[in-house]
Amino acid sequence: MNLSDPVETLRGIGEKTAETLKKAGIKTVRDFFYNLPRNYENFQAATSISEMRPGRVVVKGKIEKLTSRRARKRNLSIVEGIIRDNTGSVRVVWFNQNYRMRQFAPDKEYLFSGTYELKNGRFQLVSPSSALYTDVDLKSGLSPIYVAHGGLKSNDFRRLLNASRDKFVEIPDLLPFTKTGIRKESLFKAHFPESEKTISEAREYLAYEELFELILAAKLNRRENEKLKSTPIKFNALKIRDFVGKLPFKLTNAQRKAAWEIFQDMEKNQPMNRLLQGDVGSGKTMVAGMAAYETFIGGGQVAFLAPTAILATQHFEGIKPLLSSFGVKTALLTGATKRKPELKKQILDGEIDVVIGTHALLTDDTEFKNLALVIIDEQHRFGVEQRQKLALKSPSGLAPHLLAMTATPIPRSLQLTIFGDLDVSILDELPKGRQPIETKILPEIEVRDILYPEISKTVQSGQQVYWVCKAIEDNEKTKTETIDITSVKTRTKKLKEIFPKLKIEFLYGKMKPAEKDEIMERFSKGKIDILVSTTVIEVGVDVPNATLMIIENAEGYGLAQLHQLRGRVGRGSKKSECFLLTSGDMAPSRRLKELEKSTDGFYLAEVDLKMRGPGEIYGALQHGALDLRIASLSDTKIIARAQADAEKFLNSGEDMLKYKELMAGISKYQQITTLN
Ligand code: ADP
Ligand code: MG
Repeated sequence: MNLSDPVETLRGIGEKTAETLKKAGIKTVRDFFYNLPRNYENFQAATSISEMRPGRVVVKGKIEKLTSRRARKRNLSIVEGIIRDNTGSVRVVWFNQNYRMRQFAPDKEYLFSGTYELKNGRFQLVSPSSALYTDVDLKSGLSPIYVAHGGLKSNDFRRLLNASRDKFVEIPDLLPFTKTGIRKESLFKAHFPESEKTISEAREYLAYEELFELILAAKLNRRENEKLKSTPIKFNALKIRDFVGKLPFKLTNAQRKAAWEIFQDMEKNQPMNRLLQGDVGSGKTMVAGMAAYETFIGGGQVAFLAPTAILATQHFEGIKPLLSSFGVKTALLTGATKRKPELKKQILDGEIDVVIGTHALLTDDTEFKNLALVIIDEQHRFGVEQRQKLALKSPSGLAPHLLAMTATPIPRSLQLTIFGDLDVSILDELPKGRQPIETKILPEIEVRDILYPEISKTVQSGQQVYWVCKAIEDNEKTKTETIDITSVKTRTKKLKEIFPKLKIEFLYGKMKPAEKDEIMERFSKGKIDILVSTTVIEVGVDVPNATLMIIENAEGYGLAQLHQLRGRVGRGSKKSECFLLTSGDMAPSRRLKELEKSTDGFYLAEVDLKMRGPGEIYGALQHGALDLRIASLSDTKIIARAQADAEKFLNSGEDMLKYKELMAGISKYQQITTLN
């Protein structure tokens, strides 16, 4: 067995399953073994049905009388039935999990784990997870739970892994300083847990491995980056001062400092590799604009990438007037751009100085005469290959300087350890005159009395409103199964009934780019009062006149994402408000309460980090810039150990290529943290 072999070489994985796995990013045998459980269900504490008390329960029994229906009003599918053991029976209900209809054999025993609670007027077991009794390791009572992908459910992953159970012994070791065999043992223990203790041992090793790879990759990147050559761009104090003097506002100190750090980097003949981190609304774009102008003075071209056409257009419109008054020729290149061939020729001939665009910029036929700086806004939205492509765009063979910008703060406590080898500038200061956004958690039943009047007031005073929903259509499957989700379209309809005189429109990611641009354009010109939208507006959009943000089903989002969404308001001098709507009668989560208390992204990132206990899978950056799959960023001890060991390994003079598995593992991180 070779870990790099395609996943279908494993027993029991046919063409169709392999197809589904690949769509979920599980392409190789290695990916398959590293697709670790999201969590574990402990079925050991099973009680008999007659002894059940409200709260979390585990019961063992056979399933009877399964029926499925649709709730007309809420457009929800409901599967109901009865679980019976030899002491009694209990009703069970699942929401939007129609596959439950086909899951159970009537004569087999299953374990169910869920909440026994009052629902629709009677006590029932609500949306329990389940496992075939004979599948659960009876000694430990532990059953791993996997994230479902396509049609593949947790049960399927357990079955497939079981079919490859004897293959684990062939997994080679990976790291230089660890006990022989620890990798295969840890992976095995993670998938076939014996006890809580072996699970945490497995996690500890796997977290260490992941962090070691990440940190080593960052260190190697730095070394490799130092070997590359780029065009040095001399700092031109006079012209920059002139430029800054013409701005309609005074730069914040944080903006000055970041710009200064960037200018110093660009003076070197090694490429800059800098991350500009700034909280939402801190004015990153202007810092980028200064770097672009500086590059222009030095005779180089600039590519400025944004994750969406909306954002690219907005950057273009924001920056162009300013730059052109200094003789900089700026162009926009997105999927919707007409006369692309002509524009591309101008770029190649060096007639355009700054190109702002989306992925369209990355198609193979966009070439530059002298690309000296690449700016990537909201860098976590860009894939690895896209970044690599850019580096190849300048025929000079010189690598462009790279400035990546993100509004997702990395907690300071991590900066020194994991990101010690990355150059980071921080905008931790908002422009003067901003008023903090007032945030309120609001139960949905109060919407009519409290929120609607607020909306009227906002619109009457000439300001605008964002209303964010989780789904586009009503029947969409969402993660929160037992919660009512109102979709963008339904919400728009309802709001139009309530506010017949207001201009209300909706927006979502899958609409045609031109249509999206057009709506955003009208919204930013104040021609739309309420924009109902999915999270497409999460990133970067800047409409200072929008002062009221409503996030529906707020419990369904992570802290970082909520902070991003909220950051769409509070961007001007007017007072802004954000309402976090909750449904159901659960007390609001700590996440929401923290958000209500603070608007400081760095503080919230720190809180987020502390709230993620060990075993949490996703790291602080939620969009794949750094998807730590195993390690928790709060594993500070493991981080420190991995950091020290990676440094030791790098200085040991050992031939790294000997560690084939390790090299394969870190290449993915290396690509994430650099451009070369
Ligand atoms: P973000 O960091 O979220 O990308 P933007 O660059 O979009 O923030 O800036 C947010 C708003 O603040 C923009 O309207 C921008 O023109 C404005 N702005 C930027 N810098 C300053 C400043 N120093 N003083 C006042 N307003 C500023
Ligand atoms: Mg921005």
